Amino acid sequence: MLTCTPAAQLLIDLDALAANWRALRALSGGAPAGAAVKAGAYGLGLAPVSLRLAREGCTDFFVATLQEGEQLRRILPDATVHVLHGFTAADMPTLLNARLTPVIDTPEQAELWRQVAAPCSLMIDTGMNRLGLRPEQIAALDLADLDIDLAMSHLACADEPDHAMNARQRTRFLDLAAKVQARRRSLANSAGACLGPDYAFDLTRPGLGLYGGLPSPLAAGRIAPVVRAQAPVLQVKTIAAGETVGYGATWQAERETRIATLGIGYADGYPAGFPARTHGLS
Ligand SMILES: *Cc1c(COP(=O)(O)O)cnc(C)c1O
Repeated sequence: MLTCTPAAQLLIDLDALAANWRALRALSGGAPAGAAVKAGAYGLGLAPVSLRLAREGCTDFFVATLQEGEQLRRILPDATVHVLHGFTAADMPTLLNARLTPVIDTPEQAELWRQVAAPCSLMIDTGMNRLGLRPEQIAALDLADLDIDLAMSHLACADEPDHAMNARQRTRFLDLAAKVQARRRSLANSAGACLGPDYAFDLTRPGLGLYGGLPSPLAAGRIAPVVRAQAPVLQVKTIAAGETVGYGATWQAERETRIATLGIGYADGYPAGFPARTHGLS
């Protein structure tokens, strides 16, 4: 009979994902929470992650690209899908067909979207200096024709709760969002959600923390691991004191040692450069 060794597997715990979403919502003081699911939900799978979060009650999703937005629309016909990376005139029919909400980052995009009667969101740059409209652009633009769902901005230093930039960006956001006719306001990523109700506004946008990353010291003990790597033991052997193990001979046995070889390597995404001491794990 043919036998088959199981392959290395990445196990995704969707219950832990859902618990993290609820935990981040609680940390923000209970404001509605969306979810950043760009790049295939940070590599964990757009469909399973989005379906599970929708089942928990998440209605707002953030993707990077138009293609990700189309994919998510097929998975969740009724969700609000915000597309973060902007668009060109050529993208507009696809955005409209898939009922996606583009996040307007530039005056050119604002000008293009004025020509259609469909909702958009607006990224206001309050000091991150990444995507979004600068304060002087907000002042100069006529945004009155736009149907703006979210006025949003992004925090640069939310992972450091005491950083002065947090309050500075919040003040700027209050000021600039007041100049814009938007239905809702959103400022916080995972780390921002941990800063509590003052930063939550109408919607938070956690990503990292959903997937088990610790976004802030304020989330310590509240975020559960979501991803686990599992690999089969392929061989066990005993080596003598002084012998080395593996590439680069980086780990050396101090005494006679029983070692196991697992079926996982850099071809699977396991970093080949892990320090010598991790090779000594049982
Ligand atoms: C990626 C992203 C998020 C999520 O950030 P995390 O730090 O992963 O929680 C939120 N908002 C915007 C605009 C993003 O691009």
